[in-house]
Amino acid sequence: MPTENGCKVDHVIERYGLEEVNSRYASIDERLLARWIGDERHTAEGYRSLTEWFNKRLLREVFNEHGRDALGARIEHDYGLLIGDDDLLREEVTESLEADGIDADQVREDMVSWGTMRTHLLNCLNGEKEQKTSSSDWERESVEMAKSFAREKVEDALSSLASKEKIDGIETSSVSVQIQVSCDICPTRVPLEVALEQGYVCEQHIVTNTETNA
Ligand SMILES: [Zn+2]
Ligand SMILES: [Zn+2]
Repeated sequence: MPTENGCKVDHVIERYGLEEVNSRYASIDERLLARWIGDERHTAEGYRSLTEWFNKRLLREVFNEHGRDALGARIEHDYGLLIGDDDLLREEVTESLEADGIDADQVREDMVSWGTMRTHLLNCLNGEKEQKTSSSDWERESVEMAKSFAREKVEDALSSLASKEKIDGIETSSVSVQIQVSCDICPTRVPLEVALEQGYVCEQHIVTNTETNA
């Protein structure tokens, strides 16, 4: 792929040598397309979650190169602080990265935005996704965004509590967020994924539109 025509995503892939190793995908581009469109293993993902994945993949490459712990929890933690809006925490992680010889500002600059990812998929890779998939995509994307936002906030809070020595073991833990949907009439409560799968929240209290209007 000629560099002159590439976008920022292409440049980052090239500069950092982001390759697929021991993967069923031939290249990172192939993987991005597969995850975006969806295949037998993955449900289709939106630009934002792909962008997040790509930026974390970049971090992992840089961490590995500099001998920094590149476990998932560490990546999540550092990524959250790097892109977060807490200046103090960002400074803290920047210093920690620099102690490992990583130019944190450069890495942050090289992270791509979801708009760039969109252009890359549509224009550079000529990706096509059925409208039907992408319209149902934004709903899932919103939920994913809300979850990742909540996760980041909790991670920030935990890391602050850890620095005040109110909690131990943050480095080797990770936060997960699950959205629950509750019935307003009875105590039934199910994870959102389950509600989507079964097509209702509470079997006992399904009110159809016609019933509401009656
Ligand atoms: Zn591109
Ligand atoms: Zn109910």
